[in-house]
Amino acid sequence: MSKIIIMGSGAAPGVPCISRGFGDCNPKNEKNYRMRSGTYMELSGVRFLMDTSPDLRSQLLFNHIREIDAVFYTHVHADHLHGIDDLREINRIMKKPIEMFASEFNLGFIRQRFGYLLTDNNKEINPVYRAALNPHTFTYNESFYVNKLKVTPIALKGHNVEVSGYIFNDGEVVHFADFKSVDEESLKLIKQKPKVMIMPLTTLDGTRYHVGFDDLCAYAQKLQPERVIISHMAVECDYDMVRNMCQKVNTHIEPAYDGMVITWDE
Ligand SMILES: [Zn+2]
Ligand SMILES: [Zn+2]
Repeated sequence: MSKIIIMGSGAAPGVPCISRGFGDCNPKNEKNYRMRSGTYMELSGVRFLMDTSPDLRSQLLFNHIREIDAVFYTHVHADHLHGIDDLREINRIMKKPIEMFASEFNLGFIRQRFGYLLTDNNKEINPVYRAALNPHTFTYNESFYVNKLKVTPIALKGHNVEVSGYIFNDGEVVHFADFKSVDEESLKLIKQKPKVMIMPLTTLDGTRYHVGFDDLCAYAQKLQPERVIISHMAVECDYDMVRNMCQKVNTHIEPAYDGMVITWDE
């Protein structure tokens, strides 16, 4: 069985956020309580995380996740990265390093900030720390395997730092993080109708560096996934409001909420 858990469906400030509280979100709806961005998946027998948000500790505890085989990074903004140190708890349980995948640029940044976690330079930096992550980099549009899981990383464009999207098993699952556009050549690597596509919204109108609701719907219409899960939502995105907007456009699109579980047979 394949499984996805949306552990965090919020944008960088979370919902409620410190400056604006719940904003346009109804505080009476539990689905409007959002941790920062993070997803757990089990695909082709591989258990992995997309990103490690600053809320990772709470996310792993709430979802009873104690073991993972790999972690994939989309980009190095704090809301996607800064829970990285919590992975050491998983190492403590599994007694071995976790395989970690990031683009060359992202890995370079992680190495600079969190080098003590990496197996290849761990000892030089601090011999007391036990290695947590086994780093791997990749080339965009070139597939590789993690055991039986086929992974095709693609470049997402228009955010204010480099962002990697991931196509798993030729499109069975597609994961996009913060972006403004994607090249046609990259979209062609989605070779089957996706079962699940995870897309980031942030705000309904979009920003200079983020797509808006209409852009997401256009991608959904073009790629025709069985389910589109909208994540990475800020305080402008009330759950019921986004859900109603989705249903007017396409019944296959729906907003995520923290703890949302999606399963299907392989
Ligand atoms: Zn983000
Ligand atoms: Zn970002």
